[in-house]
Amino acid sequence: MEKGTIQVKTENIFPIIKKFLYSDHEIFLRELISNAVDATQKLRTLVSLGKYKEELGDLTIEVEMDKKARTITVKDRGIGMTAEEVDRYINQIAFSSAEDFLKKFKGKSADEARSLIGHFGLGFYSTFMVSDKVEILTKTYKKGGSSKAVKWECDGSPEYTLDFVDKEDRGTIVTLHISKDSEDFLDEYRILDLLKKYCKFLPVPIRFGNEKTYEPIEGEKDEHGHQKSLEVEKPRIVNNINPAWRRKPAELREEDYLAFYRELYPASFEEPLFNIHLNVDYPFNLTGILYFPKITNYLDVRKDKIQLYCNQVYVTDSVEGIVPDFLALLHGVIDSPDIPLNVSRSYLQSDSSVKKISSHITKKVSDRLEEIFKNNREDFEKKWEDIKLFIEYGMISDEKFYERARTFTLLKNTEGRYFTLEEYAVHIKDAQTDKDKKLVYLYSSNTKEQHGYIENARQRGYDVLVMDGPLDPHFINSLEMKLENSHFARVDADVIDKLIKKEEEMPSKLNEKEKETLKAIFEKIMEKDRFTITLESLSEKDPPVSITQPEFMRRMKDMSKLGGIMPFMHDMPEHYNFVVNTNHPVVTKLTGISEEEEQNRMAKQLKDLALLSQQMLTGEDLTNFVRRSVEILL
Ligand code: ADP
Repeated sequence: MEKGTIQVKTENIFPIIKKFLYSDHEIFLRELISNAVDATQKLRTLVSLGKYKEELGDLTIEVEMDKKARTITVKDRGIGMTAEEVDRYINQIAFSSAEDFLKKFKGKSADEARSLIGHFGLGFYSTFMVSDKVEILTKTYKKGGSSKAVKWECDGSPEYTLDFVDKEDRGTIVTLHISKDSEDFLDEYRILDLLKKYCKFLPVPIRFGNEKTYEPIEGEKDEHGHQKSLEVEKPRIVNNINPAWRRKPAELREEDYLAFYRELYPASFEEPLFNIHLNVDYPFNLTGILYFPKITNYLDVRKDKIQLYCNQVYVTDSVEGIVPDFLALLHGVIDSPDIPLNVSRSYLQSDSSVKKISSHITKKVSDRLEEIFKNNREDFEKKWEDIKLFIEYGMISDEKFYERARTFTLLKNTEGRYFTLEEYAVHIKDAQTDKDKKLVYLYSSNTKEQHGYIENARQRGYDVLVMDGPLDPHFINSLEMKLENSHFARVDADVIDKLIKKEEEMPSKLNEKEKETLKAIFEKIMEKDRFTITLESLSEKDPPVSITQPEFMRRMKDMSKLGGIMPFMHDMPEHYNFVVNTNHPVVTKLTGISEEEEQNRMAKQLKDLALLSQQMLTGEDLTNFVRRSVEILL
């Protein structure tokens, strides 16, 4: 037996490992199993190179938990290690990399540290977070002099022992003697959960005990004629070694993608809208499948997240920095060994290979959307309301994506017809070009509330867009910046003739003196700080009075409500224009009334009607309006 001391360069790291970030102790299991998988994969490689010619046998990795003995064991049939390799890999290399890893943590905030440890790095020595003592029993695949099995033991102090022992089988058994304060890991369901979390798609079968299943008994039926079945115990394999994203897109059908979605998110009821299979091997390695989810509830948008894997080992479900923000709402899997994992988030974002990966994903997503748009526009239009959020978000936040999505992004009008940006510009060109040669896009943010205004616009032969999505205020802004010679106006931003200004102005039926009288009538009954009264000579068909809210002010307020810019706008009082149509017969009649009380009553009635069509008449004012209306009918 050999006794030795692990060369500690800086200070004793064991106590540091022990009391490491508490919530992340569970990663010890992932680290151990990753090592077992690596050792197995290395053996497979040797076979494929013709360097190992013996029978491979069953390569299943076995995880065992013994509550009484307080141990957790991971057993593989991989390449194993010689005594000299244990010394080199475990005592020296693994130790110093653990030491390096810990050094990186010094002086880091808890959050930064957590984002590091969530990834790889600590390796084999992470087992000391949960163990009083760790044993490695290993026998190399090699034959000859140095092939004797060895046992390494360490109790969490820098001293270890190394012994030659008997072991028949090739491979490695690591046994953890779980410490008192980590007892919660001595629980079958806890271990099963961890295996499901970290090992679900590892490329070597992993067994954890047995499970009961029911198998039909050939030809036997019960009294109701149902097939009889027998309860059998079978090894419980916790992983799928050949997940869909690792297979060739040509091998997979639509059902396979759906089945894989369910495998990834067993608790999700919704089916995804469509999927994107990523498969690159140059200049970086990236595989994965992304799904466009159907967003039914904005609150649980982030429940099923994209999962990041490294060669089928689960790493994390926070892909911030790797996937552009607007695509973080997608679901699915990304697997790439080229994403540096033991670095901090801020470093990730500046890493050039990560940038390439991120822009590749963006490109693939837009290619796929374009493909669906081109091949099946009808289907694309059907899905539009569900994918609109992603696309608008992408177009607002990513210049390149805007350029790509320009060709397939859709605008919907109040008749429910869809147009591309180009088609729509052509559609409204004749009617909605104003005297300054600007194209005016009319839109409604609420087709019910703004119904009257929409009707007015449509009677004039104008088209109105529906822009009622949560991102539409931002989207309109960014479209306005990009589309040349165009601007957007909500249907109630002004009277329609002002929104789309034409050359000729209509003459007014009232003279200056009459106009003054008219203005004075309304000034008496309107709150000055809320309304600006303007007189316009509009068509007789236009409403006699209407309430509008200037586009710019309203948009600023909307944007500040969405958060971010200009929060002070939020507190600004609402201000409106009260537009009186001097050509409407009711208005000319009003000006001609000589009896003051009668004139007042009619002005109030008009004002209330205008408020009513903007959903602004409530409370006492509404009650008074109803009373007055009844009186008029008498
Ligand atoms: P890493 O896996 O990142 O290299 P570890 O600290 O986890 O770091 O392991 C150190 C080394 O010990 C491995 O690179 C490998 O050579 C060896 N090793 C660990 N576990 C096993 C195992 N189950 N079978 C064979 N070799 C192993």
